[in-house]
Amino acid sequence: MTRIHDLPRPGDPAVRESTPRTPAEIALAPTIGVLGVQGDVSEHAAALERAGARVVWVRRPADLDSVDGLVLPGGESTTLRRLLDFEGLLDAVRRRGEEGMPMFGTCAGAILLATEVAGAPVPHLSLVPMTVARNAYGRQRESFAADLAVEGLEGGPLHAVFIRAPVIEEVGEGVEILARERGDIVLAETDRALVATFHPELTADDRLHRRFLAKVRAASARR
Ligand code: GLN
Repeated sequence: MTRIHDLPRPGDPAVRESTPRTPAEIALAPTIGVLGVQGDVSEHAAALERAGARVVWVRRPADLDSVDGLVLPGGESTTLRRLLDFEGLLDAVRRRGEEGMPMFGTCAGAILLATEVAGAPVPHLSLVPMTVARNAYGRQRESFAADLAVEGLEGGPLHAVFIRAPVIEEVGEGVEILARERGDIVLAETDRALVATFHPELTADDRLHRRFLAKVRAASARR
């Protein structure tokens, strides 16, 4: 598995060589940033590489310069928020999101993207119109796995691992619900974002990472 310190960083020869890139090159292998301040960074990086992306680790605002899309991993949303503020990344990520860069938020990453977090006075990045509730499963179901029927995903049910997961209570305009688990929304998308309340990086199934890459390619083609 790729470890964090093995990932190409912006400025590494492999990354520098690839910029500036033509739309055709981007279409073949988009560069995806993985927010690398806390959480499942290396697992996402490995899944993205298997799906055909170049991966860079985003820890500072300048690291965002070379990326075509961004993955926000699971972890602990309050800790992630503190680290994002500390690095000056919150505003930088929000700006790229507002400019239309595709983002994939998983578990705590989905909480960061929501416009509303139940019980919290203010949201974090506020980029995807939805309300999420943190730690939404009782103690007995704090961590569990389920097979999800996902709208428009070929290849059968998706095995999903939930760890102290949130639920998406409500979605706003432009958000399509892709999967529910026992009635609760657990996977949704807009034309620029994909949000999952579970951990797709912890299974060998890369279909959601591939779906995200397709979004990134479509966004790059529209630019
Ligand atoms: N419970 C965490 C939070 O509220 C999310 C858990 C996770 O990302 N696995 O931030």
